[in-house]
Amino acid sequence: MTRLFNEPENFVDEMMDGFAAAASRWVQQIPGGVVRVGRPAKPTVSLVIGGGSGHYPAFGGLVGPGLAHGAVMGNLFASPSAHQVRTVARTADQGRGVLLSYGNYAGDVLHFDEAQAELREAGMDVRTVTVTDDIISAPRGEEHKRRGIAGDLTVFKVAGAACEVGYDLDGVERVARRANDRTRSLGVAFGGCTLPGADAPLFEVPAGRMAVGLGIHGEPGIDEVDIPTAAGLAELFVSSLLEEVPDGVDLAGARVVPLLNGLGSVKYEELFVVYRTVHALLAARGISIVDPEVGELCTSFDMAGCSLTLLWLDEELERLWTAPADTPGFRRGQVGDQQRFDAVVKDDAEEVIGSSTAESRACAATIVTALEALARTVDEHADELGRLDQVAGDGDHGIGMQRGAHAGRDAARAAVEQGAGAETALRHAANAWSDRAGGTSGAIWATMLKALGTVVGDDARPTPKDLARGISAARDAVMAFGKAKVGDKTMVDAVVPFSDELSTRVGDGSGLAEAWAGAAAAATAAAEATASMRATLGRARSHGEKSVGTPDPGAVSFALICTTVSDVIRNAPGARPDDH
Ligand code: ADP
Ligand code: MG
Repeated sequence: MTRLFNEPENFVDEMMDGFAAAASRWVQQIPGGVVRVGRPAKPTVSLVIGGGSGHYPAFGGLVGPGLAHGAVMGNLFASPSAHQVRTVARTADQGRGVLLSYGNYAGDVLHFDEAQAELREAGMDVRTVTVTDDIISAPRGEEHKRRGIAGDLTVFKVAGAACEVGYDLDGVERVARRANDRTRSLGVAFGGCTLPGADAPLFEVPAGRMAVGLGIHGEPGIDEVDIPTAAGLAELFVSSLLEEVPDGVDLAGARVVPLLNGLGSVKYEELFVVYRTVHALLAARGISIVDPEVGELCTSFDMAGCSLTLLWLDEELERLWTAPADTPGFRRGQVGDQQRFDAVVKDDAEEVIGSSTAESRACAATIVTALEALARTVDEHADELGRLDQVAGDGDHGIGMQRGAHAGRDAARAAVEQGAGAETALRHAANAWSDRAGGTSGAIWATMLKALGTVVGDDARPTPKDLARGISAARDAVMAFGKAKVGDKTMVDAVVPFSDELSTRVGDGSGLAEAWAGAAAAATAAAEATASMRATLGRARSHGEKSVGTPDPGAVSFALICTTVSDVIRNAPGARPDDH
């Protein structure tokens, strides 16, 4: 239960303000996250970590000497936007390159990859190592598909220590990758977390039962058993992780760091009781235990649960794991001298409102009306969208769409008040949508709005043919960005028929209102038809079977939005039934 909050909407912003004020010894708050204030005199490679909020000390709490140089902090359980990643990376960069590292979740990968591509284009050397420690989330042989949980810390710690002692970017990337290859985790949960303002937990585990392998956002586990004793849980952890010893590790003489992680509402004392048996079992196998950690290292809000992570060391990883670090959430040893450094924020977002024609401004006003209607529809269906996303995803599609739609609407409105044309209004809406919503769908909606904007421009009043071309461009952009094809059970399954139908009808000479209504009907039917499909991409892919029988949440919200916009188009000033 989350008891203490003001407006739930503002929870993350207020949490970040309070955190930055409390941790000003280590961090400076900037748009999108925090950066380090202390650095060695000589510039180093910068490590930038990040992800959704709700996992403290991940991610902001791991910024400081010996660990990260910056953390991008998204909304609760939602990936930060590419723009936020760029701002933190640019601000933290010391001229020697940046390593991006974060847990392997679809939304984070989309945003961080987009940011990486843009930063590289701007001439920065940027690499990425995603953390994939959760053994339950994909089988052996497909380790790269696994999601990241408390193993984040081992990868970040090793990479951060390598930066601190002057490794170049190749070296930092190499050791981070090796730390990830040699880190394995397994988690369990007894009860779900309740986000601020929510009246029920995001997910539930029946009383007396324990979900094995449940993800840190409540992604379903693989098994449910009666809650064992503390020793029984330690046995489950150790025996499962010993089945998954990474290639190249010889158990005889192995040296390992165990991390027993509390997910939010398991007591330190309970963890110690479990750890007692973990330690004894590893020692009984002749494994040497190095510098263990027991405590809250990567939480899941107030989730009741814990996880065990094993980092299988070699000589270099051991040196880096045991090196000093001093951050708000993780400290060890004595770090070397640091110089106080006041970061200059480097935000590359384009906020200018260029010139536009009166015709385009009229179109921009209709776009605002459409965004207002869209936001109302999302509000009305938020609970339902959340429930759909709970089946195989993480339950946040409703709130994510609400945050994005509200921010997009407000940004477009503000831009139009300052004289923006259609493209500018859509671009402002897109940037605000992805900054605020995060998540996969936030990135995808931003991509679609931007692509549509590029076609409609800031000058002419778009014809129905222009709009159909704009929607095709949006479809292409989404598919290029998220790599989903028709049949993968994502919103692409609704976007493609929508775009095809719109183009066909407009091509046949239908008026815009009629063509759009027909296309919206096609999108609705297609979204319903996703129920029989199995998810193969996105957050839901680890639970593809569970998704059968439930339509894809992103496809459903897309179809609802198309239907609402249909009404706006029908009633738009100047719309004529025969408007071609
Ligand atoms: P997250 O998955 O980050 O929690 P949301 O819950 O807001 O984000 O959105 C989930 C929706 O995103 C899915 O229902 C699906 O329609 C869409 N989606 C996920 N991955 C992709 C992808 N690669 N391409 C297109 N759409 C995707
Ligand atoms: Mg989701």
